[in-house]
Amino acid sequence: MSIREGVRGMVRGMALAAALVAVATCATTAPSEARHVHHGAPVAPKVSTDPADVKFAAFVRDFRQTAINAGIRPAIYDDSMSGISRNARVEQLNLQQPEFVKPIWSYLDSAVSDDRVSKGQQMLTTYPTMLANIESRAGVQKEILVAIWGMESNYGEAMGSFNMFEALATLAYDGPRQEFARHELLAALKMEQQEGLSPKQMTSSWAGAFGHTQFVPSSFLDHAVDGDGDGKRDLWHSPADALASTAALLANAGWTRGASWGYEVALPKDFPYEVADPDSTKPVSEWKKLGVKTVMGNELPSASSEGAIYLPAGAHGPAFIVFDNFRTVLKYNNAASYALAVCYLSNRLRGAQPIQALWPRDEQPLIADQRAQFQIDLKKLGYDPGTIDGVLGRKARGALRAFQKDHALASDGFPTIEMLGQMNAAIKAKGL
Ligand code: CA
Repeated sequence: MSIREGVRGMVRGMALAAALVAVATCATTAPSEARHVHHGAPVAPKVSTDPADVKFAAFVRDFRQTAINAGIRPAIYDDSMSGISRNARVEQLNLQQPEFVKPIWSYLDSAVSDDRVSKGQQMLTTYPTMLANIESRAGVQKEILVAIWGMESNYGEAMGSFNMFEALATLAYDGPRQEFARHELLAALKMEQQEGLSPKQMTSSWAGAFGHTQFVPSSFLDHAVDGDGDGKRDLWHSPADALASTAALLANAGWTRGASWGYEVALPKDFPYEVADPDSTKPVSEWKKLGVKTVMGNELPSASSEGAIYLPAGAHGPAFIVFDNFRTVLKYNNAASYALAVCYLSNRLRGAQPIQALWPRDEQPLIADQRAQFQIDLKKLGYDPGTIDGVLGRKARGALRAFQKDHALASDGFPTIEMLGQMNAAIKAKGL
């Protein structure tokens, strides 16, 4: 689990709050219209009877006591939480299941675009002293920090404009991210109280990440530092604070000063693909024995940590050896494709060459039905792909590797349409 997306146990609301906070569950009558109705009679605000609105209102009311028990002053809670309502856009994004999973090469094309590289290089020349200071204090290379800045907010251009409390409360009252969002909502309230912030200025992404490097509130509480020395930690307005906090988070997560994240490698034809997995580490000497070379064909240099072989597009695309610092980037965002984008962007910022090997760009991305078919076919063939849900996770990929190994195919666990055909042929051959 990553620090940012991590879900931790939550103190559950124990009792109904004694006081009711005002919860806007629907638009109240506009004052100009209100003047013309029912002379003399008070106008009660309309209360929505939509079950989701009722549930949201109950959550906002009940969570107040949870927050107070956690040390939040009632006035802080009421200031942030009164007047918010269920955010339909947040709900939509929370439940969205992509039809296509973007292939890694398309993702990298946009994540590490020429524009992002040149803007990042501008940042390196705009803030040389600030970045050098952060690098020498925390031991994280400035190019890695600038790469995260570029990935997270395009260098401060897209920091998210949702009301943080509304976004987190919408995720917290119901749905698949409840536990995460309750934990972060409490952290947001603590952050507001501790830093003396106004809730109006606390804007975030739909998932509650905020500022130049898109911290979540709990990461702020655990790691944020004052990078520019003005006595405040302001990740919205101070790039120095945001980048120093990012460096602190990585250092706290185990970043090794001066060590490489990894580099592109070349694999021999007879490489045992089943050992290529970001989690399966070996000393560099072991990889040498398996015939792994640098992409230029040279011997692998020695490294301070064990390495893993990462094949973002399977056996038919580029290969990388990745070390502990790559795995530390996963603590920021637990997706290997994200970590590769950050590390690769950092290389480009240093002026390094693009990735050398070609991506299999003619491969069609699998649609949701085909991803589910993968799991159905693997199960039919006697492998265990986990729940049939169209999400090809660790278990499904492991089952695919086993199928590939049993059929003398490169066992990279990478799902392609060609592989669907291979499974279909095996099912027919077995008369299943
Ligand atoms: Ca500051």
